[in-house]
Amino acid sequence: MSGASELNPNSMHLFDAELTKQVFEYMRDRLSMPDVPLDFPGDPKELAQALSGLIKPEGNSATEILKLYDEVISRAVVSGDSPRFMAFIPTAPTKAALLFDMIVSCASIQGISWLEAAGSISAENQVLRWMSDVAGLPESAGGTFVSGGSAANLAALTVARDSGRQRVHGGKRLPVRIALSQQAHSSIGNSLGILDIEPFIVETSDYAMTKADLDRALSAIDPSDAPVVGVVATAGTTNAGIIDDLAGISATAQEHGIWFHVDAAYGGAALLAPSVRDQFNGIENADSITMDPHKWWFSPFDVAAIIYRNPKLAAVVHTQDASYLDVLHEDDSLINPTDLAYHLTRRARGLPIWFSVVVNGTDAYRDAVEASISLTNEVADFIREHEDLELVIEPSLSIVLWRRKGWNAKDYRDLQDQLIQSQTAFVTPTSWQGETVGRFAFVHPGTTIEMVKEVFAAL
Ligand SMILES: *Cc1c(COP(=O)(O)O)cnc(C)c1O
Repeated sequence: MSGASELNPNSMHLFDAELTKQVFEYMRDRLSMPDVPLDFPGDPKELAQALSGLIKPEGNSATEILKLYDEVISRAVVSGDSPRFMAFIPTAPTKAALLFDMIVSCASIQGISWLEAAGSISAENQVLRWMSDVAGLPESAGGTFVSGGSAANLAALTVARDSGRQRVHGGKRLPVRIALSQQAHSSIGNSLGILDIEPFIVETSDYAMTKADLDRALSAIDPSDAPVVGVVATAGTTNAGIIDDLAGISATAQEHGIWFHVDAAYGGAALLAPSVRDQFNGIENADSITMDPHKWWFSPFDVAAIIYRNPKLAAVVHTQDASYLDVLHEDDSLINPTDLAYHLTRRARGLPIWFSVVVNGTDAYRDAVEASISLTNEVADFIREHEDLELVIEPSLSIVLWRRKGWNAKDYRDLQDQLIQSQTAFVTPTSWQGETVGRFAFVHPGTTIEMVKEVFAAL
């Protein structure tokens, strides 16, 4: 007889008071830190060694494995939620959102269908309604939360493609194209690749796409080419925070009857900020909008909203059909979150932001977003006054591209290494018109001008 067959098969599912205490203590420690440590990029070989042999028939001591997690694994993850994380797009979850994420996990809360999950879906939809309202979308609008902006863009562009094919090809699988500019996020290009849609690149005379750019490009189309059935505008480019001319592009989209998708994965939260709100005018005409709560809406990973002006169009495209699922579709007045994107099982990942916004209130969200916009302006002023520094372009939203006079690509990379080693900041370079430059992205309201000055002090 092997030992295993004599074990109680339910043993892993029994309450373990000691393990619970240790995990709760860990969480309490982490949550009570004024600023979480940045930590370090890890060494894959050392990590492989530390983890080697852990998966084995008899298991390990939970206390030892928690210690290994704390001392080895977690230290080899740069903390995106540190106020000193100024690279890529940081994250800055509220305490309420983090805590509620634990509730969602500990109850395995899902948000698949109204049949099983009316409670969580109602709460998630309340947040989607708030986001739709700040964008000015009509009452008909609705959507779901997916894992990230990339998944949200893929979900929306699938609907744009199929609705377009319906209109121009009577639903036949014939080629269609979707318009975008070079500044569109990489996930748009990847989504078009997955969907086998040829990108229709709109040349822009400046960094933002304008109505004139789109009009010019569309008027040059040869009628024998695949029709353009949609356009993607970006409301806050990831590299530089630039917002396309949403009002102008939406007017052209309406004239041509094409789908208007707005990728506001990073920038969407700035809809809450009165200081920049008018730059988003026209977003209310969108057929679909991507907005990432795990970026500037202060929710933990991983969550993005995909919101459709007419969610029924999305349900037609994304609903999965299987005999065992028929029971989910008995009431066709209700649209299930699972029917609005490419997924079936889904965690109720919208609940952490729901709890946080309901508890903290929308004014707190507005103020936290405005904090990063004001910091951006302060940093820009500092750069203007510094004789060795220059702004590469005027900052937009909460992203600053800067140059240290005389620096080359290696200087920026060396600065990155030096700053993470000293735990001063995590700052990575980017490129702008072929030149390597410095870049800050701010979303954490706890990031201060002093922290940014520490970066410049290291130059
Ligand atoms: C971050 C970002 C994405 C991708 O979102 P993920 O959540 O990382 O998948 C798409 N578009 C824009 C504009 C972004 O900033």
